Amino acid sequence: MNRILIAEDEPRIASFLAKGLRAKGYTITIATNGLEVVSMSLDHNFDLLLLDLGLPKKDGLAVLEELRGQGISLPIIILTARDDLQDKLAGLEGGADDYMTKPFRFEELLARIRLRMNVAQPATTNNQTILTAENLTLDLLTRQVTFKHQLVELSEREFTLLETFIRHQGQVLSREQLLDHVWGYNYDPGSNIVDVYVGYLRKKLANDLIATVRGVGYQFINNQARIKGKY
Ligand code: CA
Repeated sequence: MNRILIAEDEPRIASFLAKGLRAKGYTITIATNGLEVVSMSLDHNFDLLLLDLGLPKKDGLAVLEELRGQGISLPIIILTARDDLQDKLAGLEGGADDYMTKPFRFEELLARIRLRMNVAQPATTNNQTILTAENLTLDLLTRQVTFKHQLVELSEREFTLLETFIRHQGQVLSREQLLDHVWGYNYDPGSNIVDVYVGYLRKKLANDLIATVRGVGYQFINNQARIKGKY
């Protein structure tokens, strides 16, 4: 789960990405035009594709369309010029999983890569389709949630938010991190949407499942932490 194909025709950006990601233990392959990206994605087993939209020979959206058309399901994060909203929307409709607008912070890209690889895992390994924590079970394939053995109806956003909390239980997650992970792009960082959705989850599940960490963000509380008397 560490092979990344970078599709980027600007050598400086490609080498910046390759260097940073190799340092984090990923195996990197670089493709510099769209035709190469398609043939490499079809021939090799990659775990994730970072796809620049402005590529020679075949642009990124056409690449995306072809890969999804051929049934290639690998996670794809699009790299695009700032504020190209039309491209973003076209890409989402074309089956991309996430977006980064250039210029971006490497740490943010890394967080999204990790998230996408985590999310992608259950589809390939059957034994990891159920997440459990604190009387909760989340079935990642059927999107069913039970709490104390009762089925709970969650919207797709609520589900993804809860999944993010469970995957990072015990960690304090900032509003920005949650916004990035769950809403992904194009949201005003000043928006209170995270708070609103945390409120929904508390209402549908339990009030004390997600703690507010003042001035920082939110934290999914597990029993062990409670027993230690931290909360
Ligand atoms: Ca380019």
